Amino acid sequence: MAVVQEKELLCKDFLAKPKKLLIDGKFVDAVSGKTFETINPATEEVLAKVPEGGKEDVDKAVKAARRALDGPWGKMATNERARLIYKLAELIEKHADELAQLETLDNGKPITESRYVDVAQTAETYRYYAGWATKLEGETINANSNFFTYTLREPVGVVGQIIPWNFPMLMQAWKWGPALACGNTVVLKPAEQTPLTALRIGELAMEAGFPDGVVNIITGFGPDSAGEAISNHMDIDKVAFTGEEATGRIIVKASAGNLKRVSLELGGKAPNIVFADADIDAAVKGAITGIFFNQGQVCCAGSRLFLEKSIHDEFMSKLTDRIAKMRQGHGLDEGTQIGPQVSKEQQQRILSYIDIAKKEGASLACGGAAPSEHKKGYFVQPTVFTGVNNDMRIAKEEVFGPVLAVIPFTGMDEVAEAANKTTFGLSGAVWTRDVKKAHKFAARIKAGTIWVNCYNVFDPAVPFGGYKMSGYGRELGKHSIELYSNIKSVWMNLMD
Ligand code: ADP
Repeated sequence: MAVVQEKELLCKDFLAKPKKLLIDGKFVDAVSGKTFETINPATEEVLAKVPEGGKEDVDKAVKAARRALDGPWGKMATNERARLIYKLAELIEKHADELAQLETLDNGKPITESRYVDVAQTAETYRYYAGWATKLEGETINANSNFFTYTLREPVGVVGQIIPWNFPMLMQAWKWGPALACGNTVVLKPAEQTPLTALRIGELAMEAGFPDGVVNIITGFGPDSAGEAISNHMDIDKVAFTGEEATGRIIVKASAGNLKRVSLELGGKAPNIVFADADIDAAVKGAITGIFFNQGQVCCAGSRLFLEKSIHDEFMSKLTDRIAKMRQGHGLDEGTQIGPQVSKEQQQRILSYIDIAKKEGASLACGGAAPSEHKKGYFVQPTVFTGVNNDMRIAKEEVFGPVLAVIPFTGMDEVAEAANKTTFGLSGAVWTRDVKKAHKFAARIKAGTIWVNCYNVFDPAVPFGGYKMSGYGRELGKHSIELYSNIKSVWMNLMD
């Protein structure tokens, strides 16, 4: 730990200066003057004080966003828009190590992941969508020879975006990239646990040269605060939300006032299915990535591991051997593979799920507690339960932590039915060498993403989103363009 504290922090200047909201191109305090603290989850120390934005700040931001939409941004040529988004991607890469440190300090995640997943994917996502800005098209339609009919693709307008704390910078990119490419203006609320990288990226956006009011950032809370003010705002045209299912429902209700468009990416309880004919070593690694990546705080985490009975014991022995070698610690330590949970609240919630699993009769194969070697920090040991059945709460509810539920199975139909017996449908995976089985399963699992012989693979070009109660709308790829644009049909009378 001493090594980490002595380390020269590239983000120390940003950490030291007062944090402000970004409204209309200016960094300002909240109207109320209130602030809140953001905590380093590895040390429990206060990292920074951040403005607590509320309704009045959201109102100011929406007005600025509307002005920008009707003004310079709305009139800007699409290649200029593209250039600004490319410039933002370049600046993110220029400051990659600083941003990675900031993300690790605020969220807890291992620095290698911040650097090579979060920052790298953030830059790639902006680049991907910068390309789209110049490729938006309408169509001409041969409906009736008496009319010339064509469609225009227009921005939706002022967009509110509410994001979670598990991938703060990356979720901002998933939201800003397509919204800006389509010509919208945005009011973003980062999660209260992890507001820092959003603000730093706000600075980089200003440096890139986005006109005032195009991107606005209001740090603050959800209920009775900035989040609620965004979701029920009468002059916001669309809200995009990533977070908990229960919050998603609140946002849908709040959006009803002006019937704003809503897209939701919510929770998951993904089945990760390993057949006896799979490459077992690869599947063991996949099971670990599936559940322990980002400390299990991933909506598509493979939290239900279905193992074909004939390989169950061999698999479990290999799995627990590997887990025993995982290094848990401070995210800034280069050797760390698993960091702390984001907050005390999350740590306690996960520990309570571990208790519930024990009470419901699941067998603890490893982990099961906060590690005693860490006196500070919100750590939870990587934990695996065997002998789980699909009716236990640990198999039904989203734990959002490093807790794996192992469920044995015998046949294809049995596992397909069990895998789909969930209210969620965000993702799933299947491990097999049998191509037919893989395709059949890809079709049978009711979820928005299926990985075959891999897990947690992403690309900005490949759509992501949920079936069932995991939400609606698809982010990434060309599908996100649909979320952030309106189609207008134009009829021109050609009759003499
Ligand atoms: P988590 O429990 O993982 O923090 P949440 O769904 O509570 O997930 O949070 C995701 C985002 O939603 C955060 O930015 C949070 O502030 C915001 N949020 C929480 N409650 C509300 C609400 N009632 N209205 C609008 N935004 C909210």
